[in-house]
Amino acid sequence: MTLHRGTPLLESIPLSGASGRRVFLKMENMQPSGSFKLRGVGHLCETAAREGATRFIAPSGGNAGYAAAWSGRALGIPTTVVVPKTTSEEAKNTITALGAEVVVEGSVWEESNDFALALASKHRGARYVHAFDDPLLWEGHGTMIDEAAEQMDKPDAIVLSVGGGGLLCGVVVGMDRNGWEDVSVVACETEGAASYAAALSAGRVVRLPKISSVATSLGSLAVAPRALEVERTHRIVSHVGTDRSAVNACKRFLDDHRVLVEPACGISLAQVYEGKLPEDARTLLVVVCGGIGISAKKLEDMDRAVF
Ligand SMILES: *Cc1c(COP(=O)(O)O)cnc(C)c1O
Repeated sequence: MTLHRGTPLLESIPLSGASGRRVFLKMENMQPSGSFKLRGVGHLCETAAREGATRFIAPSGGNAGYAAAWSGRALGIPTTVVVPKTTSEEAKNTITALGAEVVVEGSVWEESNDFALALASKHRGARYVHAFDDPLLWEGHGTMIDEAAEQMDKPDAIVLSVGGGGLLCGVVVGMDRNGWEDVSVVACETEGAASYAAALSAGRVVRLPKISSVATSLGSLAVAPRALEVERTHRIVSHVGTDRSAVNACKRFLDDHRVLVEPACGISLAQVYEGKLPEDARTLLVVVCGGIGISAKKLEDMDRAVF
């Protein structure tokens, strides 16, 4: 049995009505770890465990760290999650509640990552768990498309969010193994976290000077090089929206489907609500990527803080 769960595919009447398309939702928010990350991280950790890994080391105070902690707990393997100083007590407690060790190191993710890499190289048998740049992650994320291919006919487009591009690369892996290689992908980011749009327009991976967006789960300064490569072989449309759009979409989705998601997920929903989609895309599959970094209170605060 895998660590991730099969998720429901729902036809959304509200999103279909708003966009004038037929919209299906892949409910990845329902993974035990609250986001799609468990598909890739779970697959990576299970594979590593089979190969004799004795510890997982993950640099992330967000959904990837939580998925690693979840995997370690399920597999009975000690897990260290390295988080930057900016990580909230609440986020740290959520991770330690799974039995993982939290190490606070660095003021930004890059510094936590350097520390995690050093720790992993010192520790015999340790497996470093990247949040988005590892072929094993992509293979695991691809299972959501294996499932979708059983649940629905081939859509015209898949709408998803891009942080470091792991979800994108994984969805492409899944598309390729299900005869969906000709499906368009709408890759959504927020202004202030648009490392993929920047890479696409430059034709190479570029490093953003900083992240400034409420969609913190999209906050990687640079995408995985593979995310740029898949654009040469697949029809990928990049969309950058505002934090305001992302937060509005979270609120609207909460009312429409009674489901609370992070703005990182909201930005994908926003493109559908606002009809920013390829003209010829009649049927859409939206990856509801989820995320645990949200609450009723946080959404209210964001709603007030975002211009
Ligand atoms: C990680 C994450 C993303 C972005 O995924 P990448 O693989 O980094 O592109 C989007 N939404 C949520 C909720 C996430 O946890």
